[in-house]
Amino acid sequence: MSVRFDSWGRVSRKPRAAADVADFRGTAPGSFLPFGNGRSYGDSCHNDQGRLLPMRPGAAISAFDPDTGLLTADAGVLLSEILATVMPYGYFLEVTPGTAQVTLGGAIANDVHGKNHHRRGTFGRSVVMFSLLGSDGVRKSCSPQSNAQLFNATIGGMGLTGIIEQATIRLMRVPSANVRQTAFRFSGIDGYFDAIDAIDASHEYSVAWIDQLARGGKLGRGVLMAGDHAEDGGPARPPSAPRLSVPFSPPLNLLNRLTLTAFNEMYYRRAPAQPLTGIVPWSSYFHPLDAITGWNRLYGPRGLFQHQSVYPSQNARETTVALIECAQRHGASSFLTVLKRFGDVPSPGLMSFPRPGFTLTLDFANSGERTLKMLDALDEIVMAAGGALNPYKDQRMSAAMFEASFPHWRQMEAMRDPAVLSDFWRRTAMVLEPAQRGANRPSAAE
Ligand SMILES: Cc1cc2nc3c(=O)[nH]c(=O)nc-3n(C[C@H](O)[C@H](O)[C@H](O)COP(=O)(O)OP(=O)(O)OC[C@H]3O[C@@H](n4cnc5c(N)ncnc54)[C@H](O)[C@@H]3O)c2cc1C
Repeated sequence: MSVRFDSWGRVSRKPRAAADVADFRGTAPGSFLPFGNGRSYGDSCHNDQGRLLPMRPGAAISAFDPDTGLLTADAGVLLSEILATVMPYGYFLEVTPGTAQVTLGGAIANDVHGKNHHRRGTFGRSVVMFSLLGSDGVRKSCSPQSNAQLFNATIGGMGLTGIIEQATIRLMRVPSANVRQTAFRFSGIDGYFDAIDAIDASHEYSVAWIDQLARGGKLGRGVLMAGDHAEDGGPARPPSAPRLSVPFSPPLNLLNRLTLTAFNEMYYRRAPAQPLTGIVPWSSYFHPLDAITGWNRLYGPRGLFQHQSVYPSQNARETTVALIECAQRHGASSFLTVLKRFGDVPSPGLMSFPRPGFTLTLDFANSGERTLKMLDALDEIVMAAGGALNPYKDQRMSAAMFEASFPHWRQMEAMRDPAVLSDFWRRTAMVLEPAQRGANRPSAAE
């Protein structure tokens, strides 16, 4: 079976081979990798020398108890499907990433974060238990109490420990899914860093959009959006069907310097100069881009790279400025530039990306060698600051950058299912130590 399983960055697009779970747990040769909904940006959800195991088909929610807020579902269920089920009962996900078009298994395997990391940490903390299927056909029930090591390695383990079949998660009660948002613009990066301690101390959620193209005294200007579930938020409606759609990829990148300069100016000016509080629908606060189907196609046929880093708080202001200036020096424009704080709530995942500090996300159209050079220069700044790069947004980081980001990666390698591999793991961990355990079943040749 050969189907298209592009990842969100669309840098590498081609038909990819898929397999059945029966192949994985049987004696079929080669390597395998679970595939959720392809919302990872790069190659951590690809396995081009082996086969993918699609998790979406037939996935369903099997139980939800409105008394306890516990939900059990197949790993291929989307977070949007979970929200649609639990919101009428006054529940919400404890942690929701910037899109709800993510599977439960993908959210666990990447231990995703939301706008409330400073309060609640990562998605993995909501996970009560899951069943994990290994290539030896053995199914293990994993929780903090049972098979705890495997539980920790699978959360944030990027699919490498086997197939998460079903999981039970804890949801949180909210007065309304809708959000009481306080938004204001800041005229330079100091405006963000001067405000954020007080903002995070008093709000469940916070996120800032940054105008990556602003220079001089305006460098790092942006809009801060803090929020809390509203006491008087009214009924939470399901998101309306996407009103806009990008059905095909235009022949060139539409998100270029010219269009972005105009967009950024307009977006910045439209935001209130003084904090303004009001109720906003939950879907536009948490998942604004889900309203435009296929927005990633706007980057043109060569796709986009996302660069998400995290760096310590002590030098966060300087590091943020250095990253923005570096992109500017290289003549690169980032459509979506987002700055958030990661708190110190520990994550259960062995390989989880979040750690205390600040995280900056930049999206760049792929202009080939020029973009790759700039991304390497950004990496150097992150490394010098003692930071790390997000593996599930990445398509190109060097093995050295990977090791600097995850110095304990060998513990993960020791927990990897011998029949599971990803392209990301091949070009990072396997390059650092090519003589690692087998890349697939012993009899197989890739
Ligand atoms: C617009 C947008 C906004 C985003 N915002 C955020 C954000 O705010 N925070 C954040 O953390 N991330 C964010 N992301 C990234 C996204 O949340 C993660 O990449 C997510 O894990 C993707 O899930 P998926 O179901 O699409 O899985 P895929 O991308 O298909 O796979 C992700 C990983 O999970 C593994 N996997 C999938 N299913 C299983 C399974 N059943 N068993 C074992 N392993 C499995 C795969 O092997 C792969 O390694 C965003 C992405 C987009 C496109």
